Amino acid sequence: MSKSTPWPLILILGLSAGCEEQARAAPPPPEAVPSPAVIAAPAPEAPPRWPTASAPLTVAQVEFPKGFGRKRIYLDAGHGAPGNDGNTSVTCEPEAAHTLRVAEDLAKRLEATGHFQVKVSRKSGQRPTYQDRLEQAERWRAQLFVSLHSDSRGEARWWQSTMEQVCLRNDSAPGYSVLYADDIAEPLLSQRLTLARALARRMGDAGFLPYGGEDYVGLYAPDSEQPGTFVSRHLPGQRIFVLRKPPMPSVIIETHHALDLEEVERWREERTLEAFAAAVAQGVVDVFAPPPSAAAPARVSTRAALPAP
Ligand SMILES: [Zn+2]
Repeated sequence: MSKSTPWPLILILGLSAGCEEQARAAPPPPEAVPSPAVIAAPAPEAPPRWPTASAPLTVAQVEFPKGFGRKRIYLDAGHGAPGNDGNTSVTCEPEAAHTLRVAEDLAKRLEATGHFQVKVSRKSGQRPTYQDRLEQAERWRAQLFVSLHSDSRGEARWWQSTMEQVCLRNDSAPGYSVLYADDIAEPLLSQRLTLARALARRMGDAGFLPYGGEDYVGLYAPDSEQPGTFVSRHLPGQRIFVLRKPPMPSVIIETHHALDLEEVERWREERTLEAFAAAVAQGVVDVFAPPPSAAAPARVSTRAALPAP
C-alpha cells in the first residue's frame, strides 16, 4: 500500500460535497408543502374482519400423528326432531336445514382425510328424537358427540328478505361459540372442556370470529381461557340434552348468528365449509394427541386424555 492520499476517502468527501451542493442549489420549498406530520404515511388499515365478504379464512393443514387411526365422530345435525326446526334465519331458512347441510358437508370432508368415521344423526326427511340420536351414538360407540347449531341473538327487526317474505334480522352480534356443560364428574368434565376449547381455538385460528356472549347472560358463561367457549348455566329442568346426556365428550358448535345477513352469506360459501372442516379436524387432533406446547405443565390440568378407541 502506498502512503499517498487514500482514494476511498477522497471519493467519500467528493460525494458528500456533491450532495451539499445539490441541496444548496435546490429551490426553497413552496409554502404549500405540508409539514412532515401531515404527510406521514397513514396507519396500515386493519384487515377486513369476519363476517365481511373480503375477510380471509385459513384452511388448516392438518397433520395426523402416527397411530392416530380413525376416530368415530357422531355429528348431530341439530334440530329436525319432531316439532323442532330451531330458529328461522335472516333469509327465513329453518335452522334444521342449515345444520343438516353443514353436517353432511363436514362429514364428507372429515371422512376424506381417512382419519375419521362420521355418523350424521339424520338424513333429509328423517326426524329422529334426541333420545334416538343418543342411543344411536352409544350403539355405534362414538368417541365424540358434536352437535351443530346456529344462534338467534339479541333484538331483531323485520326486513324484506325477498319480494315474497319478511324475516328477522340483527347484524350486531356475529360469531361462533362452542358450548359445553360442567354438571358432571371427572374425567368427562375435563374431556368436555378440552374438546370445547380445542374447537373454539381452531375456529379462531381459521379466521372465524368468536362471539362475545353479550346475549348469553344467564344461559352461558364465557370460559376464562378460550374466547368463543362457553359453559351452560341453564337451570335444572331447562338444561340442554346433548350437552348433558352423552356418555362420551359432547359439545354444541353454534356455527354463526342466523340473523346476521353477512354471516349467513358466508356460511353459504365453499371456502367457509372448507376452513370449518379443517378447523374441526385440527381441534379433534389436538384433543386426542395434544401438541407439545399444550402439554406443558401449566396447562395439564385443562387437558384430559380421551378414552381410547
Ligand atoms: Zn339450535
